[in-house]
Amino acid sequence: MVFQRRVKATMAWILCLYCHNLMAAEPYPLIDPPLCFNDRGETVEFITHSASQGEVAAGMANRDSDGRPIIVRMNYDKADPAFQRFVDFHECAHHQVGHVDQPHPPRNSFDHLMNESIADCIAILRIREEANHTYSQVIEELSEAMSLVGFPKISTDSRLSNVQNCYAKEESAAEFVKKMQDQASVRSFSG
Ligand SMILES: [Zn+2]
Repeated sequence: MVFQRRVKATMAWILCLYCHNLMAAEPYPLIDPPLCFNDRGETVEFITHSASQGEVAAGMANRDSDGRPIIVRMNYDKADPAFQRFVDFHECAHHQVGHVDQPHPPRNSFDHLMNESIADCIAILRIREEANHTYSQVIEELSEAMSLVGFPKISTDSRLSNVQNCYAKEESAAEFVKKMQDQASVRSFSG
């Protein structure tokens, strides 16, 4: 059973959000996962987990107990396809920049929020380049999800304005990823 692969939950990068359609009768169709490679060139495997009891759509980036890079997609049928895509790209970004293999910063610390901003930024750049979803589709879901899950308005606003600034960047997703990888290696080199 693929779901029984153990993951180190405390070390996982999780984007855990409620979606607005919890009461929807029909689940959304699942999109195909995008291609994802980490900073070492390893292929990241997506594992879809649709627990019937789950009400929360979430993604989790990690390595499994055999050390393979994975993204677990939980209850994606609770989220519309534009938002599924955003979560896939967001979790992939944690692999692309190497966050998954770094020590996990304390929750809600500056470094944690910085890594989330970087992942959001890469996700929206990839949406712009690779997906047919509009910016507003993604943003609407993201802001609804964040307010439903109880993020204070101030952090929702700052997260959304980060995403908006990224969407307007002239850089490509690949250029931005490269820049973040270079910064990460400088950081680890200097301690
Ligand atoms: Zn994240």
